[in-house]
Amino acid sequence: MKSLDSIISECRANAYDLNFSRAREWKEEEEGRVLVGYMPIYFPREIIHAAGAMPVGIFGGGDDKQIIKGDAYYQSYICHIPRSIIEIALDKHLDHVDGFIFPSICDVIRNLSGIFKQQKIGKFVKYMDFPQNFLPEIGGVFYQQEMSHVLKYIKEINGKDVTTEALNHSIELYNRNRQLIETIYNVRQDFPWRLTIDEVYCIVRAGTVIPVEEHNELLEQVCTHISEDIGDPQDKIKVVVSGAFCEQPASGLIKAIEEAGCYVVDDDYMLGSRMILGDIDASTSHPLQAISTAYIKQSQYSSSIYDVHDPKENRLAKIVKDRGADGVIFAAASFCDPSLLDAPIFQNAFDKMGIRYIAFQYSENINQYKVIKEQVGAFSDSIKLWEDEPAIPAIEDKIK
Ligand code: SF4
Repeated sequence: MKSLDSIISECRANAYDLNFSRAREWKEEEEGRVLVGYMPIYFPREIIHAAGAMPVGIFGGGDDKQIIKGDAYYQSYICHIPRSIIEIALDKHLDHVDGFIFPSICDVIRNLSGIFKQQKIGKFVKYMDFPQNFLPEIGGVFYQQEMSHVLKYIKEINGKDVTTEALNHSIELYNRNRQLIETIYNVRQDFPWRLTIDEVYCIVRAGTVIPVEEHNELLEQVCTHISEDIGDPQDKIKVVVSGAFCEQPASGLIKAIEEAGCYVVDDDYMLGSRMILGDIDASTSHPLQAISTAYIKQSQYSSSIYDVHDPKENRLAKIVKDRGADGVIFAAASFCDPSLLDAPIFQNAFDKMGIRYIAFQYSENINQYKVIKEQVGAFSDSIKLWEDEPAIPAIEDKIK
């Protein structure tokens, strides 16, 4: 078994590798292999895997990529991630990726898919609509058609038909992946000092750019390591970070929140890898239907989903309660409409529920965190000073 430090180093290197080297190696290992890039937030990676391809998560350039050409494609008053993705593509870091999927989140991602088409990047570009109708016979069928469309694109490249057995096998692998990630979060809920949130982030993000089989092996080993009583507890409050699901905060900012006095016991940084709650049925003769049913019935709340019957503020409040968190940090990428439009809904509800929170905005390329660190530190101190008061007074009656 590898040491925990070496696993974290390996994952960090892969997570931030803008050349997507492991994916390139995987493709070169065998003739006919296909790489399919997908943007945040969520995409059912199972179907790409079953088609003999490898899904590659593309989450922007962070603070490693200087933007020169990308700015020419976008106005100044939108988020940063599309500029860095364009920059990465124009600098040929994605030349080994065969096709690109842009899941529907917002107009920015939609426009990014148009630029990829206009620039003829990749063999196919698919803007993928996700259902906002949650009736299985309407939204569910539509979603299966969208997945079939993606499979058709991959078949045009590798000529492979996707079998039911292959789909079920891929579902099993990703079920295991989600289980192991959830185990890490569950251990950290009670023992957050065993692994920092920055380390968790690298471990989970690495799984978006390496084969799932390899990621599962690493996750199994991480779970074994953190089942031991390692690390020393510190005097920190527990928080949930919400709103940072698409453009990713730089590693320094993820670290700064914990350094300022907050154990992050849940977050939506890598929401796509944790989007489906629980397992997808891997023993059916209709696996696309199983994936679609899981999306409709078992999705985590998200700014990209309008689900009027299950308000997201109640769902976030439940996460806060279940994780035993003292408060919430709303971290939104600057100009991120989905996140910033949701924030007042959460904050109004949390004012009534008595859940404490702060909010700030970031950009993937900022590397000065002094102000944010002070804000987070003051939040942590204020909760510790008034810790005699219940952290979340009487929300039990107000949430499901
Ligand atoms: S950061 Fe927000 S606005 Fe920008 S592409 Fe992502 S979801 Fe859209």
